[in-house]
Amino acid sequence: MECSKCENPKVIIKRKHSGQILCKDCFIDSIQKKAIKTIKKEKLLSKGDKVLVALSGGKDSVATLDILESFRKRRFIDLCAVTVDEGINNYRKSGVDIAISHAQRLGIEYKVVSFKSSFNITLDEIMKKEEHRGSCTYCGVFRRWIINKAAKDMNATKIATGHNLDDETQAILMNYLECNIDNLTKLGAKTSSKSDKFTVKIKPLREIPEKEIGLYVLARNLDVHLDSCPYSKQSFRGEVGELLQDLSSKHPTIMYSTLKGFDKLKPIIKKELSPSYNVSNCEICNEPSSNKLCRVCTFLEELGTKVNF
Ligand code: SF4
Ligand SMILES: [Zn+2]
Ligand SMILES: [Zn+2]
Repeated sequence: MECSKCENPKVIIKRKHSGQILCKDCFIDSIQKKAIKTIKKEKLLSKGDKVLVALSGGKDSVATLDILESFRKRRFIDLCAVTVDEGINNYRKSGVDIAISHAQRLGIEYKVVSFKSSFNITLDEIMKKEEHRGSCTYCGVFRRWIINKAAKDMNATKIATGHNLDDETQAILMNYLECNIDNLTKLGAKTSSKSDKFTVKIKPLREIPEKEIGLYVLARNLDVHLDSCPYSKQSFRGEVGELLQDLSSKHPTIMYSTLKGFDKLKPIIKKELSPSYNVSNCEICNEPSSNKLCRVCTFLEELGTKVNF
């Protein structure tokens, strides 16, 4: 076996979906080109953008930072990072340390914001309560609030997340299966809201499979946090992920076709089914919300705490 591009016999991947065989350098090059292609096709970056990377220290966010760094080096954009500490014992700390080391290595502006300092409660403390809505519901809503606020505090014009092909197809299938049409209308490479109160979110890695991102950080020798969250098994997303993995082993192109099909339908779904509501500001925390109270403040009220100012 030799590399399909340069004939190097030291190959590191045989792509099931395309049959392509690649050596380390050609593989790195192919991932970077693929992300850049998504960035150009979807117009994810504009010259002068200040992009906030939601940097957890995991492989996806570290790869996102690595790929966007090439744009910063050419002075096309500026970068900054935020790391959210949810307060998950024996899990989050090593991710935070790795995230900080990457931000410091590149010399970019960064901050670490915890659930505890923002909401007076950690995710572990929430999960000890008798009644709760499930770890990932709080985690997603609270994390988005912190990242959105950090973007404003740091004057970022875009927020980049590390969503990969597996994440995107999971989200498409999951929201479809649960009839979450509102959420479906918001999915895509660039999720902008009708309101300019939310910073535009971009997903440069959404066409790259999770396994290839794992191989990319290994090939690039990037330090990443590999543990998985102790709550991840409890989620419906996890079950849908397993289903897609099973299907992919027999049908290697299934995730690509799911994404492609959704992207074709998306403009129609968006036009026909986008919810029409006015975005104002939450009465408690003043962050954008379509109701009197945002979801964060609603959840915090149920938990008997509030946003820390
Ligand atoms: S799996 Fe863990 S980190 Fe991910 S959303 Fe759920 S609680 Fe948060
Ligand atoms: Zn090669
Ligand atoms: Zn609020």
